[in-house]
Amino acid sequence: MDKALRAERCPVCLGRRFRAFRKGTLEAAALRADQVKITDREYGATWDLSLCLDCRHLFADPYPSPEFLLSLYGRVEDPLYDQEAVGRSRNFESILDRLDKLRPARGELFDVGAATGILGDLARRRGWKVDGIEPSLWAVRRAEAKYGLALRRGDFLEAELPENRYQAVTMVDLIEHTPRPREAVGRAFRILAPGGALVIVTPNIHSLAARAAGRRWWHLRPGHLAYFSSRSLRRLLAEAGFRILSWRRYAWTFSLHYLLSRGRAFAGLLESARFASFLKGVRIKLALGDSFEVYAAKEQDPAR
Ligand SMILES: [Zn+2]
Repeated sequence: MDKALRAERCPVCLGRRFRAFRKGTLEAAALRADQVKITDREYGATWDLSLCLDCRHLFADPYPSPEFLLSLYGRVEDPLYDQEAVGRSRNFESILDRLDKLRPARGELFDVGAATGILGDLARRRGWKVDGIEPSLWAVRRAEAKYGLALRRGDFLEAELPENRYQAVTMVDLIEHTPRPREAVGRAFRILAPGGALVIVTPNIHSLAARAAGRRWWHLRPGHLAYFSSRSLRRLLAEAGFRILSWRRYAWTFSLHYLLSRGRAFAGLLESARFASFLKGVRIKLALGDSFEVYAAKEQDPAR
């Protein structure tokens, strides 16, 4: 198995005009499963990034091969993510609120990169019939044990899935993890029923918060292989056949405990169990707006 590959074309627009943009610190062949889990805290760790001169997409080059990544994600265990389920729920509720407004009839929803099933469980409570896929065996077992949610285990691009079936496909913090975004969005198009909605949330490296944070921006991390520009994300969706329904800036909610636990300076504070549990109850909405939050509809057949 090749662990690292070089880009020959931009993974979004397939253009060949791109240049080295930033030298990174990561080595594809040395990547470990604990570096790609959701709560990894290696902020500032990046790949060598290339910039597409046509669509402004930024992408890891060289990048870990899809097979290598799948083997790593399959082994991810992330109990901290699970402990933050309440805070994560708030994030997903605001997404589902908007989805429910756009598609009030609901129907069947497919969650890609479903992790421990937090979003899936919330969607089910709202009347969606939920299906989804996740590579981590640990996460699939947690979803079953905690929510009785049966997720598929494996790779979204390889799994056998029904076509023209779902009224919604959700990709929340997913698309920046894959070296094959065109294939992922194309697959979402095919499994959606006509009129179905795709939801994408992904970091915006060109946002004000990202620029202010510079190299310490919290979305600069080993799991993120790509950073979309507004242009590259619009192009990705348009070429797959999607029409944009809603385009927003996304604000994440975290517990104060989670935020403090991200910084070593606060380690002493968190050793007090009582204080730590108090902090876990304090929710903070970080209206940084440093992610894209996009809703798009399947309208035409891209097979041309
Ligand atoms: Zn491009």
